[in-house]
Amino acid sequence: PSGGRKKISLTAQIMLAMVAGIIVGVIFNAIDSSFINTQIVGGLFAMVGKMFVNALKMLVVPLVFFSLICGVTGIGDIRILGRVGGKSFGLYMLTTAVAIAVAILIATLIGPGKGFDMAGVDTSGITGKEAPSVWDVFAGIVPTNPVAAFANGEMLQIIFYTIILGIAVLMLGHQSKGFVEASEYMNEVMMKIVAIVMAAAPIGVFALIAKTFTEQGIDLFVPVLAYVLTLVFALMLHLFGTLMIFLKVFSGLNPITFMRKIRPAQIFAFSTASSNATIPVTLRCVTERMGAKNSVASFCIPFGATINMDGTAIMQGVATVFLANVYGIDLGLGGYLTVIAMAVLASIGTAGVPGVGLVMLTMVLSQVGLPIEGIALILGVDRLMDMIRTAVNITGDAVVTAIVAKTEGQLDMDVFNDPNAGTASD
Ligand code: ASP
Repeated sequence: PSGGRKKISLTAQIMLAMVAGIIVGVIFNAIDSSFINTQIVGGLFAMVGKMFVNALKMLVVPLVFFSLICGVTGIGDIRILGRVGGKSFGLYMLTTAVAIAVAILIATLIGPGKGFDMAGVDTSGITGKEAPSVWDVFAGIVPTNPVAAFANGEMLQIIFYTIILGIAVLMLGHQSKGFVEASEYMNEVMMKIVAIVMAAAPIGVFALIAKTFTEQGIDLFVPVLAYVLTLVFALMLHLFGTLMIFLKVFSGLNPITFMRKIRPAQIFAFSTASSNATIPVTLRCVTERMGAKNSVASFCIPFGATINMDGTAIMQGVATVFLANVYGIDLGLGGYLTVIAMAVLASIGTAGVPGVGLVMLTMVLSQVGLPIEGIALILGVDRLMDMIRTAVNITGDAVVTAIVAKTEGQLDMDVFNDPNAGTASD
């Protein structure tokens, strides 16, 4: 209560900032003045946006470390830990596989890219990337040097090391009391810093969105409209359909309440196009707003931000079908199954950072024998698509976290059902 003064909630402020950013961006794009483009947008907005994203990233590693320590010591039982790990991994893979299978089906039915003329498309500068082998990906989870893992923000390595550390702390029993209490305190401190950074979110989100929309002209979308519309349709179907069915069936939780509570994280993901940078906000949404206990959330959220990318997988599916149509190549059932397997595996080994979906696409395309140069076609629209799919990615992370928390008895229903939960610091 702020002395009777009517305050707009932070979530509402962030949403207003997003809408204002879109409007200003579209206007600036239409004006196309070099002063605005270089000084205001390329200078001021870029600086503010960068500072904001940096501030979010600054939180990720220490926040994940302390909350995961608290999570592991909070669970206190290695068997339960293994169960939480197994459940979340299984659900992450399942949701990603369903996402891309549905995406391929929809894209095949709609058929974007048929009759497209590639002539005149500049394909220079497109180079592919080799897919790492699954074995290498798994081997790479164990860090040789934990300090380097922390310094470079290697999420899977950080998670691995911190869990081992947490287990060792548990094994030492009563001797660990001081360390555990200090970690709990540090976790509180980190959540407070999240709240401080969140207070700057309306400005940060405005700058990021206005910059993107100034730079992205509508004209880029026209030639590949069929691709864009098919992709957005598939993403929305997954977001509001598949994921919500998963949530309802596996946990019985109310999808509408869930959607309301995850919204701030979706807006952050949309503005930053990075699941990793959004970790602090996603974590805050599932714990403080939804009532998931730290024991589950602190593991599932950073884990999901790295290995679970439903939206990105959907993009792989739609883009492959689109390019197959453009080049008039029939991939056949085998080809599509390869795409599904590749996209699921590639999402495990790649971090949730902007533009990673395009890198994954080069791997998928070369695997099924489609020309990688085709990516030139969708390059121009990829930033906006990245923003939307990142919002879908983190929603998938939160759905799985909610399911695991609920089924493990680690979700406080009073918090989940309280419309004001987690808005105290807004
Ligand atoms: N930007 C996405 C994420 O961070 C990944 C991608 O699709 O490029 O989740």
